[in-house]
Amino acid sequence: MFDLVLGTHNAKKLVELRMLLPEDRFKLTSLAEIPTAIEVEETGDTFAANAALKATEQAKHLGRWVLAEDSGLTVDALRGAPGVISARYAGEHGDDEANNDKLLRELCDVPDERRGAQFNCYLCLADPRGEVRLQASGQCRGRIAQQRSGGAGFGYDPLFIIREYHRTFGELDLTVKRAISHRSRALRQFVPTMLGLVRAEKFQG
Ligand code: IMP
Repeated sequence: MFDLVLGTHNAKKLVELRMLLPEDRFKLTSLAEIPTAIEVEETGDTFAANAALKATEQAKHLGRWVLAEDSGLTVDALRGAPGVISARYAGEHGDDEANNDKLLRELCDVPDERRGAQFNCYLCLADPRGEVRLQASGQCRGRIAQQRSGGAGFGYDPLFIIREYHRTFGELDLTVKRAISHRSRALRQFVPTMLGLVRAEKFQG
């Protein structure tokens, strides 16, 4: 078993990440289980930079392998906003209700055909020295609804319509999100390479 720290404090993201990582290969620990974990500031201008910051700073501090992710929503009509500030779009970090209200306000005059948007997820794996060893990204296209629907998921899920299903992520079962989300797309390309890396590390001793 490979000891891996999941570098996020977001409980809902943890559920999704755990669902996608093979339990028999990784011993997963979340930051909530590590009292000495640090809070890494997301000062980067891009998702990739923030994922790398969260992975490398935490890994260096703990002396352990850390998998971190940075994700968010980019809306075409808002020229990529909320982007890297998705979690604190309305001001306070992690206030999903206020963030969704602000998004609806910003798009109040925008018709359905111009409400295209995309979820983005960037992953970064850092080794115990704090070196970046793997990076990957995944995207999921959709459209922003005129109002919230459904209570599943988190963040902007109640507003994010998956065109093929005519439903928001908030209305869809988590198994659908597991199949097509930005997070699962990023992890699907990441896991096989990560397993190869882990095998090589073990081989080296
Ligand atoms: P961060 O990666 O912790 O900076 O925050 C990501 C933010 O993007 C979350 O707080 C949500 O607002 C949004 N977000 C990221 N992934 C998802 C998702 O799968 N569903 C809904 N919102 C998401």
